[in-house]
Amino acid sequence: TSSSKDKVFEAIESKGVKFVRLWFTDILGLPKSFAISPSELEGAFEEGMGFDGSSIQGFARIEESDMVAKPDPETFTILPWRAKEGQNVGRMFCDILEPSGHPYAGDPRYALKRNLAALKEMGYDYYVGPELEYFYFKDDKGTEILDKGGYFDAMTTMDAASNLRRDTILTLESMGINVEYSHHEVAPSQHEIDLRYQEALKMADIVMTYRIVVKEIAQQHGYYATFMPKPIFGENGTGMHVHQSIFKGKRNAFFDPGDGYHLSDFGKHYIAGLLKNAPVITAVTNQWVNSYKRLVPGYEAPVYISWARRNRSALVRMPMYKPGKENATRVEYRSPDPGANPYLAFSVMLAAGMDGVKNKYELPEPVERDIFKMTEAEKEKVGIRSLPGSLIEALMLTEKSDLIREALGDHIFTNFIASKKVEWDEFRTDVSRWEIEKYLPLL
Ligand code: GLU
Ligand code: MG
Ligand code: MG
Repeated sequence: TSSSKDKVFEAIESKGVKFVRLWFTDILGLPKSFAISPSELEGAFEEGMGFDGSSIQGFARIEESDMVAKPDPETFTILPWRAKEGQNVGRMFCDILEPSGHPYAGDPRYALKRNLAALKEMGYDYYVGPELEYFYFKDDKGTEILDKGGYFDAMTTMDAASNLRRDTILTLESMGINVEYSHHEVAPSQHEIDLRYQEALKMADIVMTYRIVVKEIAQQHGYYATFMPKPIFGENGTGMHVHQSIFKGKRNAFFDPGDGYHLSDFGKHYIAGLLKNAPVITAVTNQWVNSYKRLVPGYEAPVYISWARRNRSALVRMPMYKPGKENATRVEYRSPDPGANPYLAFSVMLAAGMDGVKNKYELPEPVERDIFKMTEAEKEKVGIRSLPGSLIEALMLTEKSDLIREALGDHIFTNFIASKKVEWDEFRTDVSRWEIEKYLPLL
C-alpha cells in the first residue's frame, strides 16, 4: 500500500539508510540478495529492479534470464548488524516477476501466496509457529562443539553459547520479530529459539531472516551456526517442528469446546490429511540427503506416521488444551527440518491438511505408546506406516502426487524434483568413509 511505502521512505530519511538490500529465495530456500541505493527505490516499487536470474538455482531457463525483483514495502526493516555510525542498511523481501510483469512461477514466495489466497477464498487464514533448532560449531570445517550442555541447561561449560543466543534474540527483537522463548537443546552445542506464531507468509519471511540472523551473530563472535539436519552421528538432529492452526476471522477453526480433545471436526480432518499425505510432503519438508539421517529411531525425531497428545515419538502432536486458550488450539507437525524452504514447506503442509478437510478424512486413533518400543507385528496391527527412509524414496512418492504438483505449481515441482535427483546421484555414487572402514578390511 502507499502508506507502507511512505513509511519506508520516512525510515530511510530518519535512519540514514544508505543501501537497501533486496532479498528473495531460490527453490531450495537459499537466500539471494542484491543492494540498491535509496534513490532507486521509487522505481523499484513501481516497476521492480531487473536482475539476471539465469544462474540462480531452479530459476530461469537461459532464454528468460531477465527477471524483475519487486520489493514488498510491508517487509522493510533495518539490518542491525550492518549498521555503522549514522549509516544504516535496510532490507525488503521481493516478489519475483517476469519482464512482462506477471508473477514468476519459479518464485517460492509466490507459490505460498497463491496457496494462501486460495485458502482465503474459502474464508480462512493459516497460522504457523515453527521451532527452529540449530548447532553452534567452532567453524564450518567440522563439528567441534562450543558447550557440553543438555536440555534446558542454564550453566553450560562455556558461556559463549548463552551470549550468542542472547545477542541473537535481541537482534531478532530489534527487527520486530517476537521471540517466545529459547533454551539449550538436548544435544551438546544445540540450541532453539521459538517464535511467536504468525500468519504463514509473514512467518516464512521471518524464518529466512531468523536463519540469517543466527548465522550472522555466530560469525560476529567468530563461530559458525548451522541448520544442517543431522551434523553429529549419535546425537539428536536438528528439527523444525511446525505448530499450525487455521482461523476463520478471529475464530480458531480447530477448536471445539464440546469435544474430548477440544478439537473440531475441521481440526480432526486436518490432522488426518497431514497423516495421510505425510509420505508425499516429506521430500519438501526434509529436502536434503542428510535430512534422512535425522529421521531414525532413538533421537526424538519422528519415523512413524501417527498422532498423539503427549507422545513425542509421534509425527503429529496435539498439545494439551489449556482452559481459556482456544486460540492456542493447534497441531504440531514434527518431521520438518530447518533446512527446508519455508515457503514450500508451509505450502505442502497446508495442502496436506486441507486435503483432509476437503475430503473429510477420518482421524485414526491416537497412539500414546512409544512406537519405537512396538514390534513390527504390533505396528502392522494398528496400521502404523513409516515416513520415507531416504531422499530418493521420498522423491519417488512426491513425483506421483498431484496434490504436491498443484501446491508447488508445475515449474517449481519439476525443477525441485530434477535438482534433488541430481543431489541423490551425487550422494549415491560417492564412496563414503563408512564403506572404506567396513569393506576394505573385509573384502
Ligand atoms: N531435536 C529433535 C528433532 O530432531 C527434537 C527435540 C524436541 O524439541 O523435542 O526433532
Ligand atoms: Mg526442540
Ligand atoms: Mg516441539
